[in-house]
Amino acid sequence: MTAKFRFAPSPTGYLHVGNARLALINWLYARKMGGQFVLRLDDTDAERSTEEYANAIQEDLSWLGLVWDELKKQSDRSEQYNAAFDKLKAEGKLYACYETGEELEYKRKRQLARKLPPVYDRSALKLTDEQKAAYEAEGRKPHWRFLLDQEVVSWDDHVRGKVEVDCASMSDPVLIRSDGRPLYHLPSVVDDIDFAITHVIRGEDHVSNTALHIQLFKALGAEVPAFAHIPLLMGPDGGPLSKREGSQSLREMREGGIDPMSINSLLARLGTSDNVTVMSRLDAVLDSFDITHFSRAAAKFDPAELRNLNAKLLHEMPWEEAQGKIDLPDGSEDFWTAIRGNLSVITDARLWHQVVYGSIEPVVEDQEFLNAASELLPEGHLDTESWKIWTTEIKDRLGVKGKALFMPLRLALTGQSHGPEMAKILPLIGREKALKRLSGQAA
Ligand code: GLU
Repeated sequence: MTAKFRFAPSPTGYLHVGNARLALINWLYARKMGGQFVLRLDDTDAERSTEEYANAIQEDLSWLGLVWDELKKQSDRSEQYNAAFDKLKAEGKLYACYETGEELEYKRKRQLARKLPPVYDRSALKLTDEQKAAYEAEGRKPHWRFLLDQEVVSWDDHVRGKVEVDCASMSDPVLIRSDGRPLYHLPSVVDDIDFAITHVIRGEDHVSNTALHIQLFKALGAEVPAFAHIPLLMGPDGGPLSKREGSQSLREMREGGIDPMSINSLLARLGTSDNVTVMSRLDAVLDSFDITHFSRAAAKFDPAELRNLNAKLLHEMPWEEAQGKIDLPDGSEDFWTAIRGNLSVITDARLWHQVVYGSIEPVVEDQEFLNAASELLPEGHLDTESWKIWTTEIKDRLGVKGKALFMPLRLALTGQSHGPEMAKILPLIGREKALKRLSGQAA
């Protein structure tokens, strides 16, 4: 049997780092087992799901390199959900309920006031046919609850080990709303059955859903897949991830110049016993991936760590790879090798492109010194030796050294106080532009 995994986002927003982590783990595990990876769009909520988000999810996953073998949409599958609904009803596993939201809320409050767990009391189960007919005559439409077996459900979780959930402490879940729309549980399980999903890997916020889903798989006469629940991502201070920590949507990260492989490298290792190292290819991430290395403790996502990894990735990135990533028309290998050590994000390259190929305003503090230095610029074509020859000459002839020598030249030639090695960048700037900048003119 082929191992089959799925990532099931709802297209109600852009993918964020937490989603990306689950997508990546599913993808890696699927590849590791020589299995398949299904992208399932949970778009049954017609009001909140949009085509734009559905497309964005596909774009973002492709950007990460997480290619899917099948794409499925829940909005295409209402027939299958209706069939499952009929089957469960026929087997007495669903019952019609007529309480309004306010009535349920009132019950809940009373239970809490009496210090009782706010579990649905199954009163709808006792309704007679006459009572039901009376509700319907009033214009009430039923919602449908799944009759849970009040037993302990257990499974061998690939991350959490043996998990036991006592369903006696759970409310019978509503599977179908009064407008006929199925809520998350039924479509999810029906899809997992129909698409022959063998492994369900999702966030640990789904642990109690899994107990219910296991009962649903069985009620629908299907094999129960394997489960793994990954602890959620926290912010760097251990609190919930929030916007305060910076942008966490993949879109924003991409626009901010973060490389997808920095994200993959970090997310594959966060919360595991393995050290985080930056890897430039998914194959390498795959080689070292092992689901059992994930710990049960929450993992911390720190955007600063991501940025550091990204800088490391760029510092070693060969030109062949960089070429496709920067939207810089005149890029050359020498240019890339000169600047990569100064980049944290790929978009930082724009500044150096401007310095080398575009025009900048030189920063001049002492024009006289620059004029004198200009006179000493080696004749002819500038190469990587020229800087050394030039500054030695300045030191010998003008008696200036150290920072007092290098900083004014850097400021005039690049407009910046920090940057790539001048020996490498001077030949790229070229003689003509260098002389203009030294004379204080924009060039
Ligand atoms: N759409 C659900 C979610 O994003 C899917 C959960 C699951 O993997 O079953 O939480």
